[in-house]
Amino acid sequence: MRFDVLTLFPEMFEGFFSSSIMKRAMDQRLVEASLVNFRDYSTDKHRMVDDTPYGGGGGMVLKPEPLFRAVEALTEETQVRPPVLMMSPQGTPFTQKKAEALSRHSRLILLCGHYEGFDERIRRHLVDEEISIGDYVLTGGELAAMVVMDSIIRLVPGVLGNAGSAEEDSFSTGLLEYPQYTRPADFRGWKVPDVLLSGHHAQIARWRRQQSLERTLERRPDLLEHAPLTDEERAWLKQ
Ligand code: SAM
Repeated sequence: MRFDVLTLFPEMFEGFFSSSIMKRAMDQRLVEASLVNFRDYSTDKHRMVDDTPYGGGGGMVLKPEPLFRAVEALTEETQVRPPVLMMSPQGTPFTQKKAEALSRHSRLILLCGHYEGFDERIRRHLVDEEISIGDYVLTGGELAAMVVMDSIIRLVPGVLGNAGSAEEDSFSTGLLEYPQYTRPADFRGWKVPDVLLSGHHAQIARWRRQQSLERTLERRPDLLEHAPLTDEERAWLKQ
């Protein structure tokens, strides 16, 4: 899996690339990431990448030339252009399903905006999809790009040590995850449920499924509408 991130602030990615699972995935060459400062593609003698908006108003708008030139340079030798994703509060809300769909591509190009955002022609003629990480406005797309990359890399085969752990995560099953416990079995009198200590795999799986359902019903009942449930589970929810 390869990411090309177009940003004016490549230094923001240093900690992300040099820590934890992202670092391991890059060291193992399961994930490759390049940072492109699109200021390097400015045609302006002052290396300007933004300008005032036509029609007036505050703030600066990212000019089309540097971003078009940067994407064209990245893709000039590729036969099939990888999807170009714009980080944007106006985009499709990012979900686990979207992360799963994007993880099936071998390469993605991520555009990080700043200031007032992008000239509309970038949105219309360069970008395949706009992605929003939530209904709030960030100062730049860098944090959004890291969120998107982080959620995708954990789905790349081999990146997580225990392959099962991504499959059972919240949202992957359509439900929120069941409660997790580790040692000690008794902490300050708060005990781990007996079933988890029983060693009885079928009972543990049943308990976890029931806990997932209850937790989802309590916290995110909206998810239940589209979750793959058995007839028995649907009947239980209607009680
Ligand atoms: N004026 C723009 C608007 O109202 O849509 C907001 C621009 S914002 C200050 C600057 C940049 O941050 C955006 O171009 C985008 O790349 C990024 N950004 C801000 N909020 C975001 C969000 N919720 N999801 C993804 N990217 C976001």
